[in-house]
Amino acid sequence: MFIAHLPAGYILTTTLQKKLKTNKYLLLGLIASILPDVDLFYFFLVDNRQYLHHGYWSHIPFYWLLIAVVTLIVAWLAKKKEYMFASVIFFSNIFLHLILDTIVGRIEWLYPFTNKAFYLFSVPNVYGFWVYNFAFHWTFLFEVGLIAWAGYILFKEREEG
Ligand SMILES: [Zn+2]
Repeated sequence: MFIAHLPAGYILTTTLQKKLKTNKYLLLGLIASILPDVDLFYFFLVDNRQYLHHGYWSHIPFYWLLIAVVTLIVAWLAKKKEYMFASVIFFSNIFLHLILDTIVGRIEWLYPFTNKAFYLFSVPNVYGFWVYNFAFHWTFLFEVGLIAWAGYILFKEREEG
C-alpha cells in the first residue's frame, strides 16, 4: 500500500473513537497508521536500498505483537482508561498497516517460525519505474476506495459540525 495508509488510519481511528466515546486520539492513530514505514527512510538513506523494505523489523508483526502485549499489560496494571484506549488505538492502526501491506506487499506473518512472506496479489514488473507497477495495477483501486471512504467520513463529520 502506498498512499492510503493515512486515510485507512483515519477511518479506523474515527470508528474506534466512536465506540470508545472519545475523540482525543486521532493524531495518535494517524501517526501509528504510517509508523511502520519509518523503515523507508532507512531503506533510502541509511542502507542504500540494500534490503527489501518489508524485511525490516517495523514491518514484522511479531515485534509489534511483543510491544503490544507489554504495553497492554502495563496499561492494564496502571488501571488508567486513557492508557488502555491509547494503546488499543495505536496498535490497531499498526496492525491495520501490516494487513494492508499484505495485499501486494510481503509481510512475514509467521516470523520467527518461518521467514516466508505472505501477500494476496503479486504485482508484475511491467513498467520500468516500480511506482507505476503498483499505481497502474488493479489493486490500486483498494487505495482509491479507502481515500474515497475517508473523504466521505471527513465530509460527514464537518457537516455534523
Ligand atoms: Zn508499509
